[in-house]
Amino acid sequence: MYLKSLELSGFKSFAKKATLNFNSAITGIVGPNGSGKSNTAEAFRFVLGEQSIKSLRGKRGEDMIWNGGGDGPAGASRSNRASAKLTFDNSRRMFSTIDFDEVTIERIVHRDNSNEYLLNGTQVRLKDIIELLATAHVGATGHHIISQGEADRILSASIRERREMIEDALGLKIYQWKKLESIKKLERTEENMKQVESLRREIAPHLRFLKKQVEKVEKAEEMRRELISVYKIYFAQEEHFVATEKARLHSEIAEPRKELSNLEHALNKAKDILTASKSKDVTSDELISLEKKLADTRIETDTVVRELGRIEGEINANKRAKEKEEGRMKQEEFKTVYLKDVEEVIQTIENFHSIADAKQLFKEVIQALKGFVTRHRSSTDSQFIIDVEKELVKLHEQKKELEHKRAQLADHEKKITSEYNALKQKIEQEKDTNRDAEKEVFRIIARQNEVRHVVGSLNAEIVKIEHSEAEFKRELGEAGIIVGREATQYEEFSSLNVKGSINENRTEQENRKHQIERLKIRLEDMGAGGGAEVMKEYKETEERDAFLARELADLEKAGDELRKLIADLDVRIDVEFKQGIIKINKEFTNYFSLMFGGGHAELSVIREVRRKKKNEETELGEILSGDIDANMQMGANEANEEGPEGLEVNVSLPRKKVKGLMMLSGGERALTSIALLFAISQVNPPPFIILDETDAALDEANSKKYGDMIENLSKSSQLILITHNRETMSRAGVLYGVTMGADGASKLLSIQFEEAVKVAK
Ligand code: ATP
Repeated sequence: MYLKSLELSGFKSFAKKATLNFNSAITGIVGPNGSGKSNTAEAFRFVLGEQSIKSLRGKRGEDMIWNGGGDGPAGASRSNRASAKLTFDNSRRMFSTIDFDEVTIERIVHRDNSNEYLLNGTQVRLKDIIELLATAHVGATGHHIISQGEADRILSASIRERREMIEDALGLKIYQWKKLESIKKLERTEENMKQVESLRREIAPHLRFLKKQVEKVEKAEEMRRELISVYKIYFAQEEHFVATEKARLHSEIAEPRKELSNLEHALNKAKDILTASKSKDVTSDELISLEKKLADTRIETDTVVRELGRIEGEINANKRAKEKEEGRMKQEEFKTVYLKDVEEVIQTIENFHSIADAKQLFKEVIQALKGFVTRHRSSTDSQFIIDVEKELVKLHEQKKELEHKRAQLADHEKKITSEYNALKQKIEQEKDTNRDAEKEVFRIIARQNEVRHVVGSLNAEIVKIEHSEAEFKRELGEAGIIVGREATQYEEFSSLNVKGSINENRTEQENRKHQIERLKIRLEDMGAGGGAEVMKEYKETEERDAFLARELADLEKAGDELRKLIADLDVRIDVEFKQGIIKINKEFTNYFSLMFGGGHAELSVIREVRRKKKNEETELGEILSGDIDANMQMGANEANEEGPEGLEVNVSLPRKKVKGLMMLSGGERALTSIALLFAISQVNPPPFIILDETDAALDEANSKKYGDMIENLSKSSQLILITHNRETMSRAGVLYGVTMGADGASKLLSIQFEEAVKVAK
């Protein structure tokens, strides 16, 4: 026995707590009409999670709560909650997932229509209850809870509903649940796949964009690297070039600079000479004056010479005159002279003793003697000689004087001439010096121009190289900004690479410069900024895309697995269903022929043709999400195309030609449905079966057969029978009487068979 007790509190007419203990295989519940018997059957449905309040004869959950009654103590106040608690004996682990010997399931509904489900006192979800019950072949679908007037529900149901009921009864519900769950999962998986695909589609253009960006960034980086390497060689080369050129130019310019300075000095000197020569005009005047002096001297000499000639002529004339006279006088040579005159001459000569010069003395003596002689000559003739002699002396003196003068003049001329010559020579010399100085000045100026030109061009080169140096420094700074400090660390190239190409063609460097400029422009065009962010974003996006791709693959795999599982479940359900139908049919026809004393009944699998179909998936979804109501109203699922398989009931009564359910009487219909219900229960016995006045339509003979069948059924399932039927009551091990007082509240009491018969009436 699986069912232990049902405890009701505030549920419908059970205002007060009432407990039904099911310690017999068959429990009978009896009582007058309207006393609350069916409420107990409904309490089962309720606690097992029934969602259709309508099927519990209410409109809202609130209708399940004791709503107060008429007179009496309990009627005064209504309850705030209705609860039903079912206790199972789990010692045989009918609930395999719960490791307790007793399992209680309680449902509480509040006035606000909210529900609570408790499993062994712990609050759980409805879904948990449903799943738990499914594992134990207990459910709210009602194949084991046959409400009042619902006995032939299985006959009146659509083929599809019927199939559902049979599946449920056959315990295929658990597979259905699994299938539904798998479908739901598959749906979610497909939905997720769609989302993932859409996410990937969303990402794709951005990813493509980022990829392009990244390519750009990489290209820019490549260019940056290239720029750095060109920069390094360029800088090393440029530094070397500037240093070498500077050194060369400074050394080259030193010599011409020095020369220029020397030239300046020489020029000044030469200029000084020229300036000095201007003051030397005095020398020329001096020369002229000397020339004049010389000319004067020569004129004077000429005069003296002419005078000398004249004097010499006169001397010669006088000499000839004297000689003529003297010839005449030679006759007078023996003339006597007076002593006195001789003494006089002696006297005169004696007076000459004061003359120191011998020559002079001689001359004077001669003169004195000659005078004596002359005076003693014939007076007239001698006078003439004397006069001539006198004249001659005078002339000789004059001649002597002139000759002296002439000698003097000659000396003078000689002196002046030498002076003149000296001066002239000096002037000539000076002239030469000036000419040289002038030449020198011209030469210096020409040379200066030459050297200045050289210095000028060297200076220009220096300026140029200094400009290059400044440009080089500026470029260093710029390179640091554009491509980072690395570009400015080119020492390696200074010591190695460049050395080999020190004397390379300058155009090489210019080419590098052009290359640098080109790379700079291209880098600038690319807008190198934000590279790291782009890379990061690309990496993240790519990772995200890869993640999504993996996710998609996982989902596809999961989807495939689910589809396979669903297919497997379908096969399993189908196989088990069909096997179950075969078994049921065997029992069904047995029960049927037992009831009708013959005949034949069977279920056959057919395909339903529907007018309109509700979306099956939606319906499944509703069930899984807990809205069991949808599952309970499957009759609405109509379609005009060929639907899923359903079940048809075929009967053929003994001794009657009528076939088909439509032709059956009410009683026959009740018997058929009972036969079918029992057959189903026989094939896969549920832990308990509740039959609410299923026997109502039976006559006495059939009641007996019904009683037998019940007894048979109670071997495999615990039975709770709500009945007015005496025969049925007689089969129950325990009987409960339900009564209702003036307060409208149901009361429960355990009674004996006799009482029961009375109570039932
Ligand atoms: P029958 O033998 O005629 O089938 P029954 O014994 O099965 O009758 P029920 O249908 O179980 O009787 O009981 C119905 C009774 O329960 C009615 O009298 C109804 O007023 C009462 N009832 C139903 N819901 C409530 C409620 N929420 N509060 C109070 N009483 C209620």
